[in-house]
Amino acid sequence: MKVFKFGGASVKDANGIRNLYQVIQKKGGQDTVVVVSAMGKMTNALEAVVEAYFEAPETIATHITQIQAYHFSHIDDLFGAEAKAVKSQVLDLFQELKDFVKTNKSPNRSFVYDQLVSFGELVSTTIIAAYLNAQGIETIWLDARNCVKTDAYYRDANLDWEKTQAVIKAAVKRKQTIITQGFIGSDSNNFTTTLGREGSDYTAAIFAYALDAESVTIWKDVPGVLNADPRVFDNTQLLHQISYREAIELAYYGASVIHPKTLQPLQRKEIPLFVKSFVKPEDPGTSVSKGQTLIPYMPCFILKKDQVLLRMSSLDFSFIVEDSISAIFALLHQYQMRVELIQNSAISFSVCIHNKYNRLPELIKELESKFKVTAHQSVNLYTIRHFDERALDRILNNGKKVLLEQRTQETIQLVTT
Ligand code: ADP
Ligand code: ASP
Ligand code: MG
Repeated sequence: MKVFKFGGASVKDANGIRNLYQVIQKKGGQDTVVVVSAMGKMTNALEAVVEAYFEAPETIATHITQIQAYHFSHIDDLFGAEAKAVKSQVLDLFQELKDFVKTNKSPNRSFVYDQLVSFGELVSTTIIAAYLNAQGIETIWLDARNCVKTDAYYRDANLDWEKTQAVIKAAVKRKQTIITQGFIGSDSNNFTTTLGREGSDYTAAIFAYALDAESVTIWKDVPGVLNADPRVFDNTQLLHQISYREAIELAYYGASVIHPKTLQPLQRKEIPLFVKSFVKPEDPGTSVSKGQTLIPYMPCFILKKDQVLLRMSSLDFSFIVEDSISAIFALLHQYQMRVELIQNSAISFSVCIHNKYNRLPELIKELESKFKVTAHQSVNLYTIRHFDERALDRILNNGKKVLLEQRTQETIQLVTT
């Protein structure tokens, strides 16, 4: 079996779906599981529905109408006079979504998020499966919620590997082309869960692991994994080969081209991951596999924008040691701050965090009851793997002030203004 993953960018419109069909026809065929994300920016649009549900319920209907219209226009484009049957399937899904909005009693925001946002993937795969069938590729639509079994940690659910593996093995038969949803699963009560934003790559890895697949291919709008994000850096170069370990490091530090949870399951079974261009599917792209760290060997740059640098020192003459550090971490956990970097000295403790859920003012208030706190907001965190002086100069010469630096043999991290 092979596993393919198509992200939102690859299926953002009718032409994207036509291209997906071409790629599957040329490169997929039978014995392929195709994992698909929501179309374009539909996950963001559904997040706005969740926002509306809690903050401005009178606007929900407008949001849903817009999302439906977006899908319908692409269905019209793809199916023309034959659009009716697909539209009716998609309407059923929208009805389910509206029913949930009407009847739900749970005030749990993360629960509501997962029940609503998951429709992006359900709708995209319904349209795509219908299109592939219409083009003569016999396709089976598989509900990932029946396969990807998780706990009830909504918005960032944790996988039950054993159950998931057993269900997938039983559900996926040979000699089929299967379309399923990335990002979504279900808990033991069969409520929908999600695996975290950009989690479709992880879904592809889950299916590959369960099926002992021969490979996973992530189809992208870039030629493969580059040594930096081309939206941020000039003169990026394609990496032909990356070892699992190196790819795990790059993803962990924030190279957003691969979801960080994707690689370890693949590494465990030595399943190669290919990252390829959906525009030029014949090109080799990048291979992540057992083998050399990086070919060609070069510095790799990662930028995380909009971070917060907090520096804590004691209010009296004490040092920042175990008990104060553990109190700081307890608060960071409580306020759901993702810790990106830490540094301590005798009298101060610095931490660079991602304020994912906008809870910074509450956190600072709590910290200030125990420490003297300075906060730098909207700072950049640069990570360079395999850095050299020239690579470092690229960051240092951009006129930004360095607030904190941390080096290991392989990696340098700079927090800058
Ligand atoms: P998808 O819809 O498939 O999830 P995304 O838009 O989330 O795609 O991710 C693809 C984008 O990731 C690329 O267009 C590119 O700008 C960005 N990107 C960030 N870091 C890298 C990198 N190291 N190599 C290639 N692309 C990168
Ligand atoms: N649709 C989800 C998101 O946009 C999952 C994914 O695309 O990987 O985050
Ligand atoms: Mg994406």
